[in-house]
Amino acid sequence: MKEFYTLNDLQNWGEATAGTDPPIRLGVFGDPVEHSRSPEMQNAALQACDLPMSYARFRIRAEELETALRLLPKLNFVGINLTIPHKIPAVQLMDELDGFAGSVGAVNTVGLAGERLAGYNTDGAGFSRAIRSDFSVDLRDLRVLLFGAGGGAGRSIAMQAAIEGCERLVLVNRTTEKAQQLAMELRPFFADARVAAPVARLEAVPWEERALRFQIANTDLIVNATALGMRRSDPPLLSAFLLAPHLMVYDTVYATGRTPLLTAAAEAGARGANGLSMLLHQGALAFETWFDRDAPLAEMRAAISSTTP
Ligand code: NAP
Repeated sequence: MKEFYTLNDLQNWGEATAGTDPPIRLGVFGDPVEHSRSPEMQNAALQACDLPMSYARFRIRAEELETALRLLPKLNFVGINLTIPHKIPAVQLMDELDGFAGSVGAVNTVGLAGERLAGYNTDGAGFSRAIRSDFSVDLRDLRVLLFGAGGGAGRSIAMQAAIEGCERLVLVNRTTEKAQQLAMELRPFFADARVAAPVARLEAVPWEERALRFQIANTDLIVNATALGMRRSDPPLLSAFLLAPHLMVYDTVYATGRTPLLTAAAEAGARGANGLSMLLHQGALAFETWFDRDAPLAEMRAAISSTTP
């Protein structure tokens, strides 16, 4: 199998995959895509379940997405995952959309029903399961401060927290207008009589130290759903001096060790977890969508733990 395939390979699939056994019938589309750990995880799951097919990476440019997706039914694919930059544009290309993907406006999992493309989003539920497994708490009991509320992952996490009825949700984004827009969309979920006095249950705040200091004092869980931390040279999302021991800090960026944000959390005495658990659970939910059976979590976890740098 190649490190990644391209649209040209999909258009000449017989030639590009000659001798590949078991055949590739699943994969992830992204650009870049080299960083994705989904192939290791999903191939371990396919093997553990004796499903004779494999999962590959595809470097598909933004303008190639529609052509690439439309080739899949002809090539006998079972499904595809989508990552940067495809999650939001894919919504317009689906023949069917599940309710959560429609509300979030982003698709991370595509299933094939004959010629039809069905879009799902497992990031929100995957995040919720990750929080439960890493911190032994439910989202609904938490006051959440979410950075990156304008991106695909951030919107999914915010929607999930709203659906589960979290205690409080504060949205922050580099481009503040996107956080404000999301807060408007989520308002109906926070319309009940519950009061989180002396603070609002739902708000979008600017990314400014003074505003953040106040919010952090009224927060249980801080989430990084920005791209900050994906590169080793990135600064931490927040400095240790802004954090406190009562906090849980979840960094959706995945790595086997500590990300810069989690190093800051540890310095402040806060608990932290990185995005490997979300990767695992969103992937397990995608597997369950494609095959309508439980995913082999232990094998999937072992595969990503041993291959993530
Ligand atoms: P996306 O749709 O491109 O969104 C990127 C987000 O990051 C936006 O909110 C953007 O703000 C913000 N951002 C980008 N560069 C920034 C910077 N230098 N400073 C501050 N904010 C910045 O990407 P995505 O798919 O949501 O991914 C976002 C993060 O989630 C990534 O770190 C990814 O690794 C992680 N993720 C993890 C999992 C998992 O399973 N663990 C799954 C999905 C995503 P603007 O709106 O202002 O541009």
